[in-house]
Amino acid sequence: THPLQGKVAFVQGGSRGIGAAIARRLAREGAAVALTYMASAERAEAVVADITAAGGQSIAIRADSADAAALQQAVRQAASHFGRLDILVNNAGVLAWGTTEDLSLEDFDRTLAINVRSVFVASQEAARHMQEGGRIINIGSTNADRMPVAGGAVYAMSKSALVGLVKGMARDLGPRGITVNNVQPGPVDTEMNPDAGESAEQLKALMALHRYGKAEEIAGFVAYLAGPEAGYVTGASLSIDGGFAA
Ligand code: NDP
Repeated sequence: THPLQGKVAFVQGGSRGIGAAIARRLAREGAAVALTYMASAERAEAVVADITAAGGQSIAIRADSADAAALQQAVRQAASHFGRLDILVNNAGVLAWGTTEDLSLEDFDRTLAINVRSVFVASQEAARHMQEGGRIINIGSTNADRMPVAGGAVYAMSKSALVGLVKGMARDLGPRGITVNNVQPGPVDTEMNPDAGESAEQLKALMALHRYGKAEEIAGFVAYLAGPEAGYVTGASLSIDGGFAA
């Protein structure tokens, strides 16, 4: 079955990791998918090529999520290319480690620009194009609920910000039948957080399930929220974290 047939999705940050898995999954369920990237042009085009080879529709757009004008333009380009916009996934994110004594203001500002401001910018532009049944889905983090190691304060703050943002945005867009939710993954094996080495073992020890998640597991959760069955879920921050915050 193709529950997203006829829908158009925009995945902010879809060239690698969790975002690439989400783009592939939404396409497999029938959506046409526009994805953005900043540095990984070849990998973005590889995702597009895979989707196209499987009979789907996809385009990649270079847009730095820290650049509001570029991001707004990318959303408009996707909506005009595919003729509509139904699903926005705000996945682009950065992780800059640094303790309170050490983290630079540049890293603080960049974290907020990409992890928080871009979510508002893309959501604002996407909402202008969405109809009844629209979906906005953010990729937050279980670190909004639990930051068990030093050096992650500003990253945790950025993901906590999304908890409040989706509550308010759900109120703003609910009257139009658009849902807004926040997915909070635990450790997932990507280049941001490789399932190898000493720090991965430390994280696993903290979890109810002593393993990393797969990007495909997060993508399956996002596909549920994007689909017709999830129409009554809104304003929620939902954890998929192997019991990291339990
Ligand atoms: P990766 O570092 O593996 O991938 C990040 C993706 O975001 C890439 O597609 C990258 O594109 C894109 N991106 C980063 N910066 C920008 C930018 N300025 N403009 C446009 N695109 C950008 O990260 P993950 O897949 O692990 O993480 C994805 C999301 O999931 C993030 O929001 C992260 O915080 C969150 N998350 C991850 C967890 C994990 O353990 N991995 C756990 C909980 C949450 P490009 O390479 O082209 O720049």
